[in-house]
Amino acid sequence: MGIRKIRIEGDPILRKQCKPVEKMTPRLTALIEDMFDTMYEANGVGLAGPQVGILKRIVVIDVGDENPLVLINPELLETSGEQVGDEGCLSLPGKVGTVKRPNYVKCRAYNAQMQEYIVEGTELLARAICHELDHLDGVLYRDHVTDGLRDVE
Ligand code: ZN
Repeated sequence: MGIRKIRIEGDPILRKQCKPVEKMTPRLTALIEDMFDTMYEANGVGLAGPQVGILKRIVVIDVGDENPLVLINPELLETSGEQVGDEGCLSLPGKVGTVKRPNYVKCRAYNAQMQEYIVEGTELLARAICHELDHLDGVLYRDHVTDGLRDVE
């Protein structure tokens, strides 16, 4: 069990491009476990490498459907539809903003054993996948918000 420090907006690492993972190592396995621990402790639904200071294309997501996901080197294959809703981020604590996202996504990724798989998601899962994949390219949800961030009530 390892809780890592979550990087907060203003930390330049959140704006950097992440590098692909080439192979699984004991260090990365431990990192993925720590990412889940850190996300659950902070009551988040997703966490990306740069948010814990690691510039690798690794994402963890758990939207509460009893199917926690590890997405390594994820690639969006398909998106469709549209949803508009509030989004928050563990790196922008205490804030929310309205973001338009696709309502359906299909994504190819590798799991923690570096086996390729396909994940499809709608609604919250689609939103979480888009949000977390953005982190791997230095994009924060703030960049998609057109009417400003609000304080969480
Ligand atoms: Zn985020």
